[in-house]
Order: sequence, then structure tokens, then C-alpha cells
Amino acid sequence: SQTDKEILYKIHEIANDFFQQQLFETEEGKSVGYSYFKERDLRDDIIRKFQLGYSPEQKDSFTKFALDKNYSKEILEKSGLSIFPENTPTGVDRFRERVMFPIHSFSGRVLGFGGRILRNNVKTAKYLNSPETEIYHKSNVLYGLNQSKQAISKNNLCLLVEGYMDVIALHQAGIENVVSSSGTALTVEQIKLIKRLTENVTILFDGDSAGIKASFRSIDMLLSEAMNIRVLLFPDGDDPDSFSRKHPQEFVENFIKNEAKDFIDFKAEILLKDAGSDPIKKAESIRDIVKSVAFVQNSLKQEVYLKEVSAKFGISEQSLFNELNVQKQVQK
Ligand code: ATP
Ligand code: MN
Ligand code: MN
Ligand code: MN
Repeated sequence: SQTDKEILYKIHEIANDFFQQQLFETEEGKSVGYSYFKERDLRDDIIRKFQLGYSPEQKDSFTKFALDKNYSKEILEKSGLSIFPENTPTGVDRFRERVMFPIHSFSGRVLGFGGRILRNNVKTAKYLNSPETEIYHKSNVLYGLNQSKQAISKNNLCLLVEGYMDVIALHQAGIENVVSSSGTALTVEQIKLIKRLTENVTILFDGDSAGIKASFRSIDMLLSEAMNIRVLLFPDGDDPDSFSRKHPQEFVENFIKNEAKDFIDFKAEILLKDAGSDPIKKAESIRDIVKSVAFVQNSLKQEVYLKEVSAKFGISEQSLFNELNVQKQVQK
């Protein structure tokens, strides 16, 4: 309901203040959370800009704090920040002993959180996110959009990365037109948020097989929404965060500007490497590329792309058009 929503916004505002206060003003927060961010080379102004925080080890620190402020069990449970297991007298916090990343709406209200464990281990998921609530629908949100929207408009370009730390590290490197879908497959709603600001997207995914897979999926989604796209894959398994900490700012800027390819060159490079000299695999690669061209929302652009494919692979335009028409039927 409307009143529930207002209270949930308020609880998130209070939680966001709480986690930041824990990070900066408690011994545990300083020695565990703040020093974690320092190990990752984050500057104080960036920690403040993204309102990063810390959730303590104690199992009910936030829940207690909120109950003391007279928020009810029911609303705390609805917020996703507290859990009240059956047969236990008190509630527990969803986020414990994690560094905290608040997730903001376009206009800057806190909708939920991502929380990262401090030391990688196989038992615990690295990131834990808020569940779906009355105010947080993960498929409708892009991490970093609130902090990046002006730079996206100004540059008439949106960089799309995989993770929280990628958005933050690029901001620290002076590259501020960047958002992340944060671990979920890119959705139409998320693309429509970008489209309010620009029609141009450069995909900057991790240089691993998961990154390649995600970029292929995102390319087709973005083409379906009539976006102009370029793609860049970081070398050696790097992601934008690790890459930007290895190289000076100007190098990173130029790398993004110069190494981003159009989607045909990008797919061709990856698929052909896999295909080697196998003719069947080569044919499959070409079909895969034509499949993406079939998502392009403009027949003139489709023709330009097919000519590019034709020149690149030495396949007649006629064969490619035939395949395009097959793929268009499949997509209907
Ligand atoms: P870091 O640099 O902190 O190790 P990352 O962002 O490079 O993290 P990736 O493994 O590349 O981590 O994942 C990209 C994004 O996917 C994360 O930022 C997070 O939003 C999401 N993600 C990763 N692992 C999980 C998980 N176990 N549960 C939910 N979301 C996850
Ligand atoms: Mn990854
Ligand atoms: Mn990564
Ligand atoms: Mn990373």
C-alpha cells in the first residue's frame, strides 16, 4: 500500500545512515569495513559519494536499532532488512558482517542494498542483495544511475558494467557515465531507463566466459530496443575495477574509447576464434551474427550490417539476406 511504501522508504533511509555510521564511527566498522575499502584503494570522497557502509557482526544490530525506533516487526520483515524466524523471540539482520552498497532510484531514494562479504570463501555467496519488496524490483533498477545520470546525458553515452565495484572504480577514475545491472540479466525496463538519457551504450563486461555470455545476451536485448551499441571485453580476465587500478586514468579513457568495437566485429572475433578452420562452426558463427542483425530495429541499418558481414566473411549478400529473413520469422 501507499503508506507501507512511504514507511519502507523511511526505513531504508534510516538503515543507510546506520550502515554509514557503523563504517565511519565504530571500532569494528573502521577496522573491518573501512579498511576493506582502503585495501581496494577507494578514496574517502568516493566512499561518501556512493554512501558505502558496514553491517556489523552482531546478529541483530540493525533490527534492534529499528525496533527501538518503534518500527514494527511486520514492516521490518517487509523491508527485507530483518528476518523473524518462527519460534525465536527476536529478529535477525539480513546483512551481517558485510560492506554495504545502497541501491538508489533514478531520483536518489534508497530502495535496497547489496552487501559483500569481506573475505572470499566458497561457502558464502560473495554478494547478497535485498529481496524483492514493495519498493525494490531489481529488474527496474540500475545501480549507479542516480550518481551517473548527468554524465550520461552530457556524454550522450552510457557505459554498462557488471558490478557495483566497477561503477565505483570508474567514477574514481573520473569516468562517471556508468551503470550496472548488478548480477541480473539486463531487462527491457532497465534499457528504457537508459533511453531517457541516451541511445548509445558501450558494454564493458568482465573478460571471462561469464562476461562473454552476458554480453551476447545484452547485445540482442539492446538491439531490440533500438539502441546503438559498442562492446569491449577486458583482457586477461580483468574487469573495469581491476583494470582501472592497474592503469592511469588517461590510458583507461583511451582504452574504452578506442578498443570498443561494433557488435559485429566483437561477435565475429570471439566466434571465429572458437571456430578455427571448421567450416560447420564457421557457418554457425555467421548464423549467430545474422541472428543479432535480425534484432536491429531499422532495415537500412540491417542492410549496412549485412554488407559488413558479407565483406568480412566472403559470403554473398543474397545468402545473408535469406538467412536474415529466416531469423526474422523465428523471432516473431
Ligand atoms: P568484486 O570485485 O567485489 O569481487 P565483482 O563485481 O567483480 O565483485 P563478479 O563476480 O564479477 O563480482 O559479479 C558481478 C556482479 O554480479 C556483482 O557486482 C554483483 O552485483 C553480482 N553478483 C556476483 N555474485 C553474486 C552472488 N553470489 N549473488 C548475487 N549477486 C552476485
Ligand atoms: Mn564476473
Ligand atoms: Mn567482476
Ligand atoms: Mn571485480
